[in-house]
Amino acid sequence: MSQKFTRREFSKLVIAGAAGSTLGVFGGVRPAFANQKHVVVIGGGFGGASAAKYIRKLDSSISVTLVEPATTFYTCPFSNWVMGGLKEMKDIAQTYDVLKSAYGIEVVHDEAVEIDAANHSVKLKGGGELKYDRLVVSPGIDFNYDAVEGYSEELANTVMPHAYKAGPQTELLTKQIQEMKDGDNVIICPPGNPFRCPPGPYERTSLIAHYLKENKPNSKVIVLDSKEKFSKQGLFTKGWGRLYGDVIDWRAASKGGKVLSVDAETMTVNTSAGPVKGGVINVIPPQRAGKIAFAAGLTNETGWCPVNPITFESTIHPGIHVIGDACIAGAMPKSGFAASSQGKVTAASIVRLLQGKVPAPPSLVNTCYSLVGPGYGISVAAVYKLTSDGIVKIKDSGGLTPMDADDDQLSEEATYARGWYNNIAQDIWG
Ligand SMILES: Cc1cc2nc3c(=O)[nH]c(=O)nc-3n(C[C@H](O)[C@H](O)[C@H](O)COP(=O)(O)OP(=O)(O)OC[C@H]3O[C@@H](n4cnc5c(N)ncnc54)[C@H](O)[C@@H]3O)c2cc1C
Repeated sequence: MSQKFTRREFSKLVIAGAAGSTLGVFGGVRPAFANQKHVVVIGGGFGGASAAKYIRKLDSSISVTLVEPATTFYTCPFSNWVMGGLKEMKDIAQTYDVLKSAYGIEVVHDEAVEIDAANHSVKLKGGGELKYDRLVVSPGIDFNYDAVEGYSEELANTVMPHAYKAGPQTELLTKQIQEMKDGDNVIICPPGNPFRCPPGPYERTSLIAHYLKENKPNSKVIVLDSKEKFSKQGLFTKGWGRLYGDVIDWRAASKGGKVLSVDAETMTVNTSAGPVKGGVINVIPPQRAGKIAFAAGLTNETGWCPVNPITFESTIHPGIHVIGDACIAGAMPKSGFAASSQGKVTAASIVRLLQGKVPAPPSLVNTCYSLVGPGYGISVAAVYKLTSDGIVKIKDSGGLTPMDADDDQLSEEATYARGWYNNIAQDIWG
């Protein structure tokens, strides 16, 4: 999902980023002192919590309110490991205690239901209202349930979990796999691009295959894909061949993978090549920016939010910065690492803007580890910069695990993946 700019538009963006855009007149009650700047952050996940923490780290005179309904945030990273029996839910649970106690962030456990961009205020479901000088919106994704005939939000919560937001559905899918009869199959239906965590469904495929191989040797994972190819495909396919043999059956869209509809009564997925029955069915529907981004008019016709790539300020509503999965960030994938990287860049821009300074063009980073088996890791990494083509990957920065990586390298990658999780969780919530 690229966002290209003409030379003229690009110069305008740079000027807008540098000038701090046209911030409307602040009309709100300031939290502590009349002249104290106040930032509200919607969403305490990878993007939002990073932005909140780094604003306070960069300028502790700015007050920050973080709005997040959950008191415990379960990370999608490593949620596939729970399904594979390698982690428990408690291992992917993060809280806001340190952000409150050590960083002085006011954490409000509520849901933002309305943003008044002109008056710089946010309405909460619980009835409260927050005024801001700058607003950060990092609500993650929402699902287009209607795109799959027969599927619905209710079905996702009860029978065919997507488990693409970690929490109760992660537990439900894990339980279903554990309770499935040996000999039944797990069906995974990944969506078309763009979607959250491009390697996510394939790491999930790997770790469920690992679980089945150990616990239900007569069962298989059938992947009915809406795409012809997928992230790190060569590396995944090689690992699947080595570790799981015919336990994994991946079908491209044109080879019978295209999902037409689902039927919960008969536990069937209907494809262009006919019906496929499953003991467990994991439908991951197409996605769009989180609900509040739509309600606030921050999205364009793609269903995602266009932003100034220097400051991540919305190109629709000045004063509001959209980061993480919800925004259009050029070549950057929708990942937790990317969201956190954008959170830090945005924090720095906001601090500079509130100090009357000029935001600097960002350098952004992403690394995505995937586990193919407990001691078999693979990764992709890149550094990104801003050009008139938007945010682009710097040529030859990062790269993939080599196809000819030996067993030691693959095992080292699995160890780095564990380290990556601990580091990023500590950096954001610790
Ligand atoms: C199975 C799976 C595996 C993954 N593995 C990896 C990985 O290994 N590495 C990696 O980098 N990424 C991974 N990801 C991707 C990663 O989880 C997302 O890219 C990341 O969470 C995006 O961050 P975000 O801040 O945009 O959204 P989130 O982290 O989802 O945070 C959004 C937050 O906003 C809150 N919110 C939403 N609406 C409102 C509202 N109206 N008011 C208040 N709060 C609101 C939500 O409650 C949520 O807490 C994985 C994803 C999946 C599904």
